[in-house]
Amino acid sequence: MSKIDYPFDRQHLWHPYSSMRHPASVFGITAASGATLTRDNGQTLIDGTSSWWACIHGYQHPSIVNAMQQQLQQLTHVMFGGITHEAAIELGRQLLTLLPPSLTKVFLADSGSIAVEVALKMALQYWQGRKAPQKQKILTIRHGYHGDTFAAMSVCDPDEGMHTMFGDNVTPQLFAPAPTSRFGDPVSTTDIDGLQQLLEQHHHHTAALILEPIMQGAGAMWFYSAGYLKAARELCDRYQVLLIADEIATGFGRTGALFACDHAGISPDIMCVGKALTGGYISLAATICSDEVAAGISDSPAGAFMHGPTFMANPLACSAASASLALIANNEWRLQVSAIEQQLKHELANAAQLPAVKEVRVLGAVGVLELHNAVNTSVLQNEFVKRGVWVRPFSRFIYIMPPYIITAAELSKLTHAMLEVAALLPKMVMSSTPTSHG
Ligand SMILES: *Cc1c(COP(=O)(O)O)cnc(C)c1O
Repeated sequence: MSKIDYPFDRQHLWHPYSSMRHPASVFGITAASGATLTRDNGQTLIDGTSSWWACIHGYQHPSIVNAMQQQLQQLTHVMFGGITHEAAIELGRQLLTLLPPSLTKVFLADSGSIAVEVALKMALQYWQGRKAPQKQKILTIRHGYHGDTFAAMSVCDPDEGMHTMFGDNVTPQLFAPAPTSRFGDPVSTTDIDGLQQLLEQHHHHTAALILEPIMQGAGAMWFYSAGYLKAARELCDRYQVLLIADEIATGFGRTGALFACDHAGISPDIMCVGKALTGGYISLAATICSDEVAAGISDSPAGAFMHGPTFMANPLACSAASASLALIANNEWRLQVSAIEQQLKHELANAAQLPAVKEVRVLGAVGVLELHNAVNTSVLQNEFVKRGVWVRPFSRFIYIMPPYIITAAELSKLTHAMLEVAALLPKMVMSSTPTSHG
């Protein structure tokens, strides 16, 4: 058993959304394999989070590990300015075979938030190239989450996000009401009108609509009508506003379709992918745009797209992503995700009877218990660990997004723990923690 220096960690290492004065408890993990994490004390935990929704094929998958090992022998990193390499080319090829055919130009970025920044910059530069430089506002829908950097924060939900915290440093944007029409239902005219009114009023100075297609993740854990997404595409065309689909959480099968946009049969002008892109093995994201967007950017005064991170197209990350996409391309995920969906629907249904639970929602490999009140993440965390599972509730949500390779028995262990812990809730004294996917 490896020894973890907890006092050093508490003294010196920031964890996500944490305080250095009152650091939340952390669990030392020494190994992981399949859907199982191993603690420093030897206890094993079934993972219900896929490490923040990324590790879709499970931990230590031999084909991803082998691909990375081979890449390590060959070329770990080299700058992408003035240089190219086979790892990036291979990844680009594989991405294009999976993506909607209208998306053709790939920008490789370090993380999801950066992919969102890149998408927003692309939209602004595009309109400069199309002689409409006044189109600078970004429109989005409430309850969204797009990342923690400044421009990404500006399009997160204005109430639940960090807008007030950072005041004038967060650019004011336009917010349409969140869609209320559920996934599987037709879209209501109220939902469409809310979006249309803003476009009607503001399209002259609006560059893009950015949204999370079908699943609003960290901001809401909510699945909305494909009809809404379809209407959003039509409205963007009518009002000459680019559509940016943030598929960072939904891409690569999570909601039961390869991309959530597929539920509505639409293609965005710009798409962001991240999280599961490398199978969750190493940080990498991508922003992909259409020929038309790329052409507009070339016509802009700068004549070039003005972004270029130091570790752009890191070969090691590209090799992990290619291996993960090869697993996606063999289509096993379709059966895995639909089996998870059936099991979640069946096993979580009874949670609706619990007094603390407001609603149970399942789509693809996502199972959500929405509660009446916000939870204390650390307290619930301990309850889950006691039960041998890794589930990290936040805000009003106890949810799981397990690796696709999870077995039925492992998944049952997760759903049973969710029901047991949700059943404890009314008895516990809860204090709310800041809203975030922390
Ligand atoms: C997680 C997430 C991001 C941010 O990605 P990071 O890699 O954490 O920067 C952006 N958009 C969505 C929809 C996400 O779920």
